[in-house]
Order: sequence, then C-alpha cells, then structure tokens
Amino acid sequence: MTGKTHAGIGVMATIILSEYFKMTLTTGALVACLVASLLPDIDHPKSFINQYILPFKNKLTKTTFYITLGIVVYLINSFYFNYTYFNIIAFFAVLIGLSTHRNGITHSLFGFICFVSLFGYAAYKYKFQECIIPFSIGYIMHLMADMFTNKGIPLMYPFRKKSVKMPFTIKVGSWLGNMVEGLIILSMLIYVAWRIPFIISNLK
Ligand SMILES: [Zn+2]
Repeated sequence: MTGKTHAGIGVMATIILSEYFKMTLTTGALVACLVASLLPDIDHPKSFINQYILPFKNKLTKTTFYITLGIVVYLINSFYFNYTYFNIIAFFAVLIGLSTHRNGITHSLFGFICFVSLFGYAAYKYKFQECIIPFSIGYIMHLMADMFTNKGIPLMYPFRKKSVKMPFTIKVGSWLGNMVEGLIILSMLIYVAWRIPFIISNLK
C-alpha cells in the first residue's frame, strides 16, 4: 500500500474516533498520527520516509544507514549522556537496519508495543501525552490495512514468522488494489472536507 493510503487511513480513523471518544485533537497529535501511520514501512528502502526524507536507493544503503545510526547514537550517548532511552533508540535503529520489509519487527504486535512505549515515554517526559493515542491509532491502522493485502504481515514476529492476513485480501498494485486505495484516499478527502468545521473547532 502506498504511504498516501496509510496516511489517509490513519488520519481518518483518528478524526472519526476523536468525534466519538473524549480525545484532545491537536495539530501535534495529527502529525504524530501521520508519522505513525508511515512508520511501520520504515524498514522498506522505497517507503515514503526513506525515499523522500532520507535519500535511499537500495536495501544496502538502508541497512548501512540504520546500523551506523544505531552505533553512532550508542557511542555518543555512552560518551556524553548515558540515557537508557537513547540506548533503546540505538537498539531500534539496528533492528530496523537488519529487518527486511514485511518480515520483521515493524509489522508485528511486538514492534507496535515497542514503538508505542518508546513514543509514550518521550511523550510523558516532554509533556505531549495527547499525542500517544493518535500515534497508536496511526500505527495500528497501518498494520490492520496491511492485513487486507495478499502478503499479510508477520503479526506474531519474532515468536512466529507466519504471515497473518484477513480472509479476503487485495493484491497491491493490481487494478482492484489501486481502485480500493484510490477510493480510500478519496473518501478521506471528502470526509475531512465535510468535517473541517468540527476539526478546526476541536483543534487546540
Ligand atoms: Zn506496511
């Protein structure tokens, strides 16, 4: 699925849920949701984050980048700061470097729990707690959306490698897949346009 589709699903789910549950909607919360909805594909060299923000052309540069990042963060931290939090980030960077798309940590429940805990810790420490739920929604909606694709996701990784998918799936890149993705993006645009007064009046 494209980054646009994932972003659309994540943001739409957050806005819909914020209408029914008491949830503070802030610009930061929407950004957190947007980032989280793209985050699971961070281990894919051609994903939105890696292609547009970091200039990756292939798997090797992606792997090298994240492993080097992990080592650099670990070394700087052990020389200057000594925060456990940074060591966890360093560890994650190495994991992302080693993990292959759709076969590793980011598309699993384990990855979800790790990323949400890491984000949650930072959110409590730097007081942007209102972003935790939107972040979790963005991430979990990405995993759910990928379960509707023919490849599925390794939901139980690293305990089980078997890919998990819904009883009915669509093939990414097929005409049906493209049509469904197009419809999702279109309905998100229509929904957001329709709810703009609500979104603006609730945005803090
Ligand atoms: Zn994905």
